[in-house]
Amino acid sequence: EQTACRIAAGEVVERPVSVVKELVENSLDAGADLVNISITGGGIESITVVDNGCGISQEDTPLAFQRHATSKIKNAADLDRITTLGFRGEALPSIAAVADLTIKTRTPESSEGYYMHIRGGNMLDSGPAGCPVGTSIKVKDLFYNTPARRKYLKSKSTEGGLINDLVYKMALVRPRVRFVFIHNGREVLRSPGSGNIPDVLAAVYGLRAAKLMLPVNVVEAGIEIDGYVGKPELSRSTRQQITVAVNGRTVRSTTVNLALEDAYRGLLTVGRHPVAVLSIRLSPEKLDVNIHPAKMEIKMDREEELRSLVARAVRSVLRDTNL
Ligand code: ADP
Ligand code: MG
Repeated sequence: EQTACRIAAGEVVERPVSVVKELVENSLDAGADLVNISITGGGIESITVVDNGCGISQEDTPLAFQRHATSKIKNAADLDRITTLGFRGEALPSIAAVADLTIKTRTPESSEGYYMHIRGGNMLDSGPAGCPVGTSIKVKDLFYNTPARRKYLKSKSTEGGLINDLVYKMALVRPRVRFVFIHNGREVLRSPGSGNIPDVLAAVYGLRAAKLMLPVNVVEAGIEIDGYVGKPELSRSTRQQITVAVNGRTVRSTTVNLALEDAYRGLLTVGRHPVAVLSIRLSPEKLDVNIHPAKMEIKMDREEELRSLVARAVRSVLRDTNL
């Protein structure tokens, strides 16, 4: 059973950035408006995520570490209208199977918190804890018991860079949430939580870049697109600064990348990519978020329609401005 858990964990937890993604998604699902992420050694040494969300009751905390004991899906029909980021009930058990994990959590109803310490899937200790309302999870020694996986990790700076990029994207997609990101004791990001995307753009890319971003808003045929695209002079050499969210979930979308290429054709030098933050909303039945356990890729029913809508919307914004 423990071996099976460790193998299954590989599906959800590929590298440190997968741990950060799962923990932060849980914080967002818990309604937190403050998420503090701090890592050391590229996340290989430690990852700590602290939130001010709803917390977990003492009875439910052990359940959260049992596979598929998620609180978020009641029946199969729910799968078609997922509105939370998590729904498999796999992340916490998977992470705890391949690392050293300590959780401290408290709900608003209870006067004291509760902690659990699990290492390699074994519960070592648990009991009452003094802590504020919300949840704090510290993950250390990732993959200490799966050496093959540990060996496959890149350098600390590469792994840390992936986490950095993800946190930027999540902050841009959730402008109402205050994100703090600390890497090896140094504060890398503090987003204000004002709900205003340009404020987050300024925190992530700097004030100058934020001033070169143009708003995009369209609703057509049940698809809503909302966000900001950079003026062509803001282009960069990689696609890393293209942030796409579908129904609040940060994703990679080849379709949106192609649409941006269409929209900026002739405006950018070859090999350059625009800066963009695009939030797409459509009804959940039209989405297949089940496509990959790590859920960074999703499938939509109407990819072609989406591509043409994004391309048209962005092109018209670029055309309307005196470039
Ligand atoms: P899923 O997100 O798919 O439900 P997880 O393994 O990620 O599964 O989490 C298991 C359960 O633990 C969640 O359904 C939720 O009830 C609870 N949980 C996890 N993290 C938090 C958090 N930060 N705040 C409140 N509840 C949490
Ligand atoms: Mg989850």
